Amino acid sequence: MASNRLPFTYQRAAGKLDRRPSPGGLVSALEPALTKQGGVWIGWPGIELRKGERLADDDLDYGLAPVRLTENDVQRYYHGFSNRTLWPLFHSLPDVTQFERRDWQVYADVNHRFADAVAKNAPESSLVWIHDYHLMLVPELVRRERPELRSAFFLHIPFPPYDVFRLCPWDRQLLRGVLACDLVGFHVPGYALNFLDCCERRLGLRVDRDKMVVEHGDRTIQVGDYPIGVEFGAFEATAMNQPSAPLGQERVVLGVDRLDYTKGIPERIRAFERLLELHPDHREKVVLLQLAVPSRSQVAEYRELKREIDELVGQVNGRFATAGWSPIRYLYRSVPRERLCALYRDAHAALVTPLRDGMNLVAKEYVACQVEDPGVLILSRMAGAAETMREALQVNPFDLDETASAIHRALSMEEDERASRMASLRRRERRDDLDSWTSTFLTAAEAHHAELQPLTAAEIEGWLRPFIKQYPLCLFLDYDGTLTPLVDHPSKAKLGRPMRRALEACAERDDTDVSIVSGRALGDVRKQVGDDRLIYAGNHGLEIEGPGIEHFSHEDLVHYAGRADALAEELDAVASFGAWTEAKGPTLTFHYRAVPRSKRRAMIDKVRTIMTSAGYQARDAHEAVEARPPIGWDKGRAVLHVLRDRYGPAWSEHVRVIYVGDDLTDEDAFRFLAGLSLTFRVGSADTPTAATHRLANTTAVQALLEWIGKRRVAKD
Ligand code: UDP
Repeated sequence: MASNRLPFTYQRAAGKLDRRPSPGGLVSALEPALTKQGGVWIGWPGIELRKGERLADDDLDYGLAPVRLTENDVQRYYHGFSNRTLWPLFHSLPDVTQFERRDWQVYADVNHRFADAVAKNAPESSLVWIHDYHLMLVPELVRRERPELRSAFFLHIPFPPYDVFRLCPWDRQLLRGVLACDLVGFHVPGYALNFLDCCERRLGLRVDRDKMVVEHGDRTIQVGDYPIGVEFGAFEATAMNQPSAPLGQERVVLGVDRLDYTKGIPERIRAFERLLELHPDHREKVVLLQLAVPSRSQVAEYRELKREIDELVGQVNGRFATAGWSPIRYLYRSVPRERLCALYRDAHAALVTPLRDGMNLVAKEYVACQVEDPGVLILSRMAGAAETMREALQVNPFDLDETASAIHRALSMEEDERASRMASLRRRERRDDLDSWTSTFLTAAEAHHAELQPLTAAEIEGWLRPFIKQYPLCLFLDYDGTLTPLVDHPSKAKLGRPMRRALEACAERDDTDVSIVSGRALGDVRKQVGDDRLIYAGNHGLEIEGPGIEHFSHEDLVHYAGRADALAEELDAVASFGAWTEAKGPTLTFHYRAVPRSKRRAMIDKVRTIMTSAGYQARDAHEAVEARPPIGWDKGRAVLHVLRDRYGPAWSEHVRVIYVGDDLTDEDAFRFLAGLSLTFRVGSADTPTAATHRLANTTAVQALLEWIGKRRVAKD
């Protein structure tokens, strides 16, 4: 298990490490789970550990693996990107969100260190459970190092709607990071649906909202809602065993929160003030007891909020207090669990009114502690908890009148109504407690997930028809990895019969031009496909020929005719462990697919140096390095050449363009065509792309070609 904090926060006292339970809802939720389950907890110890310093875990039922963070790491990764960027953004508060590139870089770096710790500590075939917004890149990094591990991610805060999420300059990296998991869990269905929207619209991935799955290259990721619960039995027992809290004569409306701008504390105080204005009969008979637990005081917004609340409490108390009564009792501190349970038990109403909250455990703990005269829960509709806690009095926390009237209703509610509402709430929370959440989530993480159905004609129609309309179509296709699955040697990449038929159906049409744009030599790719109706661009477009197009060979190529042979000889000398050189006339490719991973880095470095010294550009390709003449030419330029040659400079007025490719070299074409055409990146979605859509594999490409070959042209 990996979370930002370990379950304990450490301090150095008299040269020794002292530990206290870490604050916050997440740790109180997970500690019992890991105690029961066993495992290793990876996280930040809350202190800069000295070299070689270890954390004792002999008294625990699980191990502790600290991730070492410096003061600067904590500033930028934790207070910075986690709490100044992701926290407010995910709570849909873009106005207080800050985007700092340096914070992002340190966040990524710290996530690397967490991932290293996971890769090092996770036993063989274990499940890795990664928690929360601090660690969104960890799953992807772990998968790179330990692809055999199953992993699951749970987000303990809301996931915002697409329109808010996309404000983050690094939104796609965050999505890809999490999508390396097998299961991604959220508190409520709304957050899970927001996540699917973002995967679809920001990464161009296919999603299925009935099965709640998303396709990511050759993997399918299950997404789901798993509303967390509390340790119901433990809270109930503690509440039963506590002596009465000396709360005074007044009836108590209780607020318990970390001091956070998402919790709506100022709005709550104003709503209570409104109650006293509208219903003077409550004066001197009711108090609002607001407990605010200090939190993130390093972040300026939190210090500002504290000042605001201090002032507001002063104002309201100043306005209404009498000799023996103050309307608001405000405590800025944390209280021990036992005392908290007694407060919950004795409060006549709990006022849980966050402006937005992933779930809110206080609402559930309050319910668990209602072991005597039943109180009333007033709950914000903006809390995840409101989705299930229907018997609470639900309010919009921004609507002060509605909240004031709910407090009034709670204080005036007859006992039988209070009892029946509370009984239903308690029955549900007892059943859906923390244990149940943990086992449901872990069972789901281990389960076999639903697969997305193969790409359907209806989906393709939805993408292509509104784009193509009645225009002719110019289709550009890469060969290896796009029309044929990737194989261990280019000579084995044969065009399958169904794909060939789909391609022919496109080529037969008068309104459709088909070009193959390949890194292979022109003659080679032409021979592989063998259809004279097509245009062929070989060597990444340095050479082009086909019907209706003048033969093209880049003029600078003559300078490279002789050099490639000498370069091939040099590369052959370093090609060990099954690596080999493919000569393609003016260019060549060094393939290292067969080379063991541990030997690759050094070999690739050598190869790149040799290519560069020979006056070539070294470009990464699929488990290969390409030597390309340093000519300002790529697949993007080749596409432009074909389009201008066939349709003239105003080509975009006359023809619709679709490009499908799987390789890094196709990105040049995707970038060139951005905003002008539909582009599809085939295969694993782990790498960033400039393409507008993703296709999982060559079967999906075939479906696309079949639709294009059969399409009917609208008359209008
Ligand atoms: N809590 C605490 N110390 C206190 C008061 C409350 O640790 O003095 C706990 C409370 O019992 C609850 C958690 O803090 O488990 C707050 O969780 P919630 O989901 O309500 O909000 P979060 O702080 O996670 O945003």
